[in-house]
Amino acid sequence: VIEIRDLHKSYGQLEVLKGVSINAQKGDVISLIGSSGSGKSTLLRCCNLLEDSQQGEILFKGEPVRWKGQGLNRQPADRAQVTRIRTNLSMVFQSFNLWAHLSVLQNVMEAPVHVLRQPVAEVEQRARALLDKVGIGDKADVYPAQMSGGQQQRAAIARALCMQPEALLFDEPTSALDPELEQEVIRVIKALAAEGRTMLIVTHDMRLAADVSNHVVFLHDGRIEEQGPPASLFKSPQSPRLRQFLSHSL
Ligand code: ATP
Ligand code: MG
Repeated sequence: VIEIRDLHKSYGQLEVLKGVSINAQKGDVISLIGSSGSGKSTLLRCCNLLEDSQQGEILFKGEPVRWKGQGLNRQPADRAQVTRIRTNLSMVFQSFNLWAHLSVLQNVMEAPVHVLRQPVAEVEQRARALLDKVGIGDKADVYPAQMSGGQQQRAAIARALCMQPEALLFDEPTSALDPELEQEVIRVIKALAAEGRTMLIVTHDMRLAADVSNHVVFLHDGRIEEQGPPASLFKSPQSPRLRQFLSHSL
């Protein structure tokens, strides 16, 4: 679904991604782990073109992103392609990012109606079904501020799903939550993994990574230091840096 080849990204002089390659095929659940500042969020944001990158390729369903310019001037050349990719790789953020002035139902319906221009009645039906699915069907008409963090994050997941994306990108979806609310969100993510959804998940929760993913990528200083299936990566890490990282996070 989404493939990254030898991606380099800098913020000014600071090179944050130093040649990263990832290939998420249909049904893959890939967790990105690594210490703070290693480039996890940047990588996720490069995938759906929220960030520019200076070198390397990004392919969506085998179709390479077309660029104009080079190096620090490189940008996607085709706005329609960017929109197609971005709407197909829905992102869920740590801080939920729901619209405060819209009800939960309106939040979920917003982009399908106003960006994809789908019929309101059809979107509403889908949105209500998704709210049921994430366990907050009774909250359709309340505003985000009237919900717990776990409920808000589940609404954000319903909103991402309502775009009917090819893949979901999660950036630390549980780290703003208290442990008991965290579990509500983890249950939803596990259910999505069991359905065969393609997902990229940045997480500091090693248990979540071990439980839901078929592949784990350990980023260190803008490079992939080690990767593999969770069973081997967590049980017998090869790199000393990964061993050290895991000793602090388990
Ligand atoms: P964390 O676990 O703290 O979320 P991360 O692995 O997600 O960390 P990134 O947010 O990708 O790390 O940041 C990687 C590096 O890029 C860091 O050194 C950070 O300071 C830098 N960086 C991130 N965003 C920007 C920005 N908008 N401008 C300049 N530097 C940035
Ligand atoms: Mg981050």
